[in-house]
Amino acid sequence: MKPEHRAYRTVDGHVRIGSVVYGIGAEIADPEGWVWLLVEAMDGSRDPAAVVACVREAHPAVGADDVRQAMADLLAAGFVEDAAAPVPVSDRERERYSRGVPLLRWMDLGPRASAWDAQLQLRRARVLLLGVGGTGGYAAQSLVASGVGLLHCVDPDVVELSNLNRQPLYREADIGRPKVEAAVSFLRALNSDVTVTGERREARGADELRDLVGPDRSPQGRYDLLVLAADRPTELRRWTNRVCLDAGLPWVDAGYRGPLVTAGVYVPGRGACWECLRAGEADRRELRLAPGQDEEVASPRLPWNPASAVTAGLSGGLLAHAALALLTGVPALEPGFRFGVNLMVPGDRVHQRFPRRPDCPACGDGPR
Ligand SMILES: [Zn+2]
Repeated sequence: MKPEHRAYRTVDGHVRIGSVVYGIGAEIADPEGWVWLLVEAMDGSRDPAAVVACVREAHPAVGADDVRQAMADLLAAGFVEDAAAPVPVSDRERERYSRGVPLLRWMDLGPRASAWDAQLQLRRARVLLLGVGGTGGYAAQSLVASGVGLLHCVDPDVVELSNLNRQPLYREADIGRPKVEAAVSFLRALNSDVTVTGERREARGADELRDLVGPDRSPQGRYDLLVLAADRPTELRRWTNRVCLDAGLPWVDAGYRGPLVTAGVYVPGRGACWECLRAGEADRRELRLAPGQDEEVASPRLPWNPASAVTAGLSGGLLAHAALALLTGVPALEPGFRFGVNLMVPGDRVHQRFPRRPDCPACGDGPR
């Protein structure tokens, strides 16, 4: 049994595994008491045959097949790992990721050969990051600290004093320096096992974006994911959506509008695209816009996008979480949604999920 899912026995004799409040746990009725013995026996010190023998010694009436089936059910539910599986990384990596891997194991409800599988998947991943400001800076820091394989950063700007209230990669001494240059040197110093590259550039149209995404752009082949953390030009999200749909490239984005911080998770061919969600959200909010009137008019978009270290940190954290989830499958997310936090109403659930729209101009069934 994974230590993070440790079972306990309720006062009425049920076996509870994990924590139900996290959406991970399970509760099993155990009138004869052998399920409790089973989860205690599965502590990593016995092979499956010895576990069966241990249970049947105390409960001879229970069939060996029933015990084996219960073990298989626990395995399928993601509560079990192979305690004897080799650790396929160096001692240094083992120590470096010794807190992150147990978290992945905790959130991972798919059976895996080793707790290190998700970490190794991350080490193989190649990510294109657009924008290393507040959101992008926090996300880049998280991805590099977590041990992503390759991160290529793209940003056209230089560091300004007004960036320093929320952009964690820059210091006062960096003012006037291209952001990409300062970001790459910060990120390389953070984790020398990660390949970090950058270019000072702005995607000023869908064609330029297509060129950045293109199959030959990454030094080690095709990217696995695009992480969008830039908000200029205004059309950038729409272009990104179209280019990623054409390229079959999964992508994530995040940002803030005042106190509302959200991130989106998109995989071409699986659920709603960015434009589907945008249309679904406009319907939900009953904006009562005239035909052709853009949704932007309903919430202010200012030249100085108001932001703090808190909103940028949350936005970058949610973005990194979305990226890590798509790259590792932990936790398993069904794409085609936005999620987030409203700092004005922290108890409210921010979750936008709408079905794919057959009439969507980007991913719909009609001509594009
Ligand atoms: Zn769509």
